[in-house]
Amino acid sequence: MIIRASPRPELRIQEPTWLSSGLTAQALPSEVEVLESIYLDELQVSRGNGRSAPWEICITLHPATAEDQDSQYVCFTLVLSVPPQYPNEVPKISIRNPRGLSDEQIQKISQTLGQVAGAGLGTAVLYELIEKGKEILTDNNIPHGQCVICLYGFQEREAFTKTQCYHYFHSHCLARYAQHMEEEIHVQQEEREQHLAPPAKQGVGVQCPVCRETLIYDLSALRAAPPPQHPVEPYRPDAKALQTREELQIIYQRQQQKGGIIDPEAERNRYFITLQAVRGSSGPGIAGSSPVLP
Ligand SMILES: [Zn+2]
Ligand SMILES: [Zn+2]
Repeated sequence: MIIRASPRPELRIQEPTWLSSGLTAQALPSEVEVLESIYLDELQVSRGNGRSAPWEICITLHPATAEDQDSQYVCFTLVLSVPPQYPNEVPKISIRNPRGLSDEQIQKISQTLGQVAGAGLGTAVLYELIEKGKEILTDNNIPHGQCVICLYGFQEREAFTKTQCYHYFHSHCLARYAQHMEEEIHVQQEEREQHLAPPAKQGVGVQCPVCRETLIYDLSALRAAPPPQHPVEPYRPDAKALQTREELQIIYQRQQQKGGIIDPEAERNRYFITLQAVRGSSGPGIAGSSPVLP
């Protein structure tokens, strides 16, 4: 379930009240109460012993895509460990169960949230952290990695499909794969029938190329998708690559001069035995039975 958070100003108005009260120990329970009223069941809070131990606040974040869960391609669980000295000490931020995010992206999110926490030191910052996390996901709602069928990454505005097993493919690639596999399954079935073999196990359809879970798909919808735009960039070595190439060439020549390079073509001919040569030395009939070295 996705619940749109209330606009930020509402919370902002309450901040000075908590702080002016000067009761740091009470700031967190009030803040958490507000968060619970916003995020409802999405928010899990484990309250540390009174306020003497850290409180752990846990929420799984998705990109803001209204109610459309099918177009959410990335997510993570934000865990905020709030120390007893909060808000005069920053909460510890961890990211758990990330989906569709690269290691660099996860590190960047962690960094950004750390900055938000640092900038908000001394104030109620939990709401801001949660919303910032959502905002980053909304901006990065493209699955990281490659389509394992064509081995190209996903570009913006490209049609791709998220499977039930949370794997991503270009819709076009998946259509081609599914169609090919359907044909393959059909051929196998026919072969089985010809050989009077027992039919395949029931319910084995086209499987995910990554995890082999049976795929549920609409082939005609997938086939309607445009093919992905693969960047056609011929390889051009940069200055560094050219320099490395020159250095390696010098090493190669030095090794060649010292006899350290094996020429596979020359090696092959070195012990090459022709039938004529054998016939000439050993006579007919036993040609090739005993190797003759030059
Ligand atoms: Zn692809
Ligand atoms: Zn899969």
